Parts: sequence; structure tokens; C-alpha cells
Amino acid sequence: MTDSFYPPLRTLMGPGPSDVSPRVLGALSRPTIGHLDPHFLALMDSIKALLQYAFQTDNALTLPISAPGSAGMEACFVNLVSPGDKVIVCQNGVFGGRMKENVERCGATAVMVEDAWGDAVNTDKVTATFKTHPDATLLAFVHAETSTGVRSDAAALCAIAAEHGALTIVDTVTSLAGIEVCVDAWGADAVYSGTQKCLSCVPGIAPVTFSDRAVERIMQRQHKVQSWFLDMQLVMGYWGGEGKRAYHHTAPINALYALHESLLMLREEGLEAAHARHLRNHRALVAGLEAMGLSMAVPAKHRLPQLNSVIIPEGVDDAVLRNALLSEFDLEIGGGLGALAGKTWRIGLMGFASNPRNVALCLQALEATLAQQGASVLRGKALPAAQAELDTAA
Ligand SMILES: *Cc1c(COP(=O)(O)O)cnc(C)c1O
Repeated sequence: MTDSFYPPLRTLMGPGPSDVSPRVLGALSRPTIGHLDPHFLALMDSIKALLQYAFQTDNALTLPISAPGSAGMEACFVNLVSPGDKVIVCQNGVFGGRMKENVERCGATAVMVEDAWGDAVNTDKVTATFKTHPDATLLAFVHAETSTGVRSDAAALCAIAAEHGALTIVDTVTSLAGIEVCVDAWGADAVYSGTQKCLSCVPGIAPVTFSDRAVERIMQRQHKVQSWFLDMQLVMGYWGGEGKRAYHHTAPINALYALHESLLMLREEGLEAAHARHLRNHRALVAGLEAMGLSMAVPAKHRLPQLNSVIIPEGVDDAVLRNALLSEFDLEIGGGLGALAGKTWRIGLMGFASNPRNVALCLQALEATLAQQGASVLRGKALPAAQAELDTAA
């Protein structure tokens, strides 16, 4: 390619990345400064405080890892798991499977608690598993399973772990800023997220936070952390609070400008208002989808407002339809993963992208493309139903 790259202007309503606000993109293009510049160090402190707000925590070790959400996951596992440990891992979708991979690559044993894709993690099974494996040192689970659109009960799961003297690793990549994440109230120990879902920032950064208990366990490690880059004892030398900061790696300066701006936007709106907005737009979308005759894949009580799994109607070709949405409406939605491939769509209403305009665009585009494919879809019902829902919420 010899010409500059200009991407098409899409509306991103898949499982991430989500739409990035122009304000955040503007921050990204500000002049690069050195990663030890006093102005940059001040920005780091501000990002830390804003992340503590987003995570609802006072944890001193709260920082953005310079790599995507998957690296946040890996940072939690490689620092808290030692060879020979036993870790209880809950799996009800794709991301629990990756947790298992992480545990095994640390030389530890993963004891799996499996639930069907589309179900929430069953807390009774977790309690029973602690009874049969009292030597488990950690419980790991996904709060918001993006592969299915299901929310699990993080507070209850953290309480079970605490009763059995285990620490917790919690994936909040899709939940942070979309639904309530209260790290301190839950008593969670190592929590990671990503910038590209409900924080609606550019992809490539992973906010993490570690409790004092988790830091203590890291300090007491007998084995070196297998990853040099993600070893928190080394990362702390750069990000760790007061005093001198030592070079560890070059922070992604401009991406951190962007993260700072997106966190500022979150604080200006307020967490509660952001959660309420996600819920309102979710309800409008569901009302519209059901009015055109589609069905949701997840029971209402476990649904994530930011990730809506919809059953693909009989006879509709998933790939053809999503290509039509992309080429005719510049609209991206997600397909199903694993066992749900070809069976569900995943419609994201994440962060900046969670707004009534996107709800309307998605309903209109789906209705038109489904009709083009000859699917039996009720015409002209979806938008009024969605609007009626928004009106009752107003
Ligand atoms: C997206 C996602 C990840 C991985 O984040 P990346 O930024 O893609 O590395 C991890 N867990 C969950 C639940 C996710 O939705």
C-alpha cells in the first residue's frame, strides 16, 4: 500500500472494539512527550485515580497494563499463580477457557466448574468444588461473558472464595463502565479490564487492580514470574506511587492520553448514569428486536445490557446478513462464537456506542436486510417499540 490508510466510517456494535468518541480520538493525536517527563508522570497519577474511581477501589496497585485485555488477564494469572497451585476456574463461555490455559501455562492445576454457554456461573457448584478441593488457592471467573452476553454474580462468587480462604481473579473486560463493578465491596483481589469495550477507548490497554492481599501474595512468591514484561514487581517500579520511577518499558504515551480522556468522560457522566444509560438503550433495543419477531438468546435476568445475544431466525445466512449490514449500512455486529457460531448474533451497545441513534440504526438495518433475505420479519414495528421504551424511561 503506497497511499495513506483512511478507514471507512463504521458504527461498531459488535463485541468490541466499540465506537471511540471524537474527544478521545482528539486526545490521541496530541504531541508525544517522554515517558519520564514530569507532565507525563502527573498524567499517570491522574489515570490511576480515575481508574480507582472506575473500579470503585482504593487499591494502591491500580494501573493500565500496556497491552490489550488479554494481557490484563495474563498479568493477573502469572503474578498470582505459582507452579503446583490449584485454581478453581469457572467456565460458561470462551473466556473461562482462556483462564484455564493461563493456569496450566503457569504450571498449576485448573479445577473446572463448567456451566452451559448462555447460563450464569452456578454459585452452588462453586461452593461444592471448594468442599472437594479445600486446597485451592484462587477462584477465577468472568463477570460479563462477552461470548454469550451473560452476567454472573461477582459479589456472591467473591464471598464464596473468601469463606474458603482463596483469592479471586475477576475478568471485567466487558463489564467495566457498562454495569456495576465494585472491586472493594466485592472484596475481589485481582481484577482486569480492557479499554475497547465499555470504556470506548482505543484497543490496546488493560486496566488492572490488585488488593493488598494480592500484593502480599506477589511479594511472597518463591518462583520468579514467568513473564518478564508482566512481572508486577518490575512494573511497580515504573507505575508504583511516590518517588523515583524507573524505566521498565516505554508506555504507550498517546494511547494513555486517550485512556485518560475516556476516563474523564466516564467521571463527568458518573458511573450510575453510565449504567442507567446502558440499561435504557438495551431495553429499547430488545423491545425493537422482539417487535420485529426476533428472540433473545439469554433469559432476561442474566442479560448484559452492553452485549445482546439474539437468535438468528431459521433460514437466514449469518455471513450474508452481516456482510450486508457492513456494506450497506457501515454497521458491524458480531457473530456467535464456538457452539453458538451461526446461531446467534452479538449486538454490542458499549460505552459511547450505547445511544438511541445506534439502537435505531441497528433496528432499521436489521429489518431491511432480513427482509431482503426473505426472512419473515414484521415491518414497521421495531422503531416505534424502541421509542416507546425510551419514552417510558425518560
Ligand atoms: C474482549 C475480552 C477479553 C480480551 O480483551 P482483548 O482486548 O481482546 O485482548 C477478555 N475477556 C473478555 C470477557 C472480553 O470480552
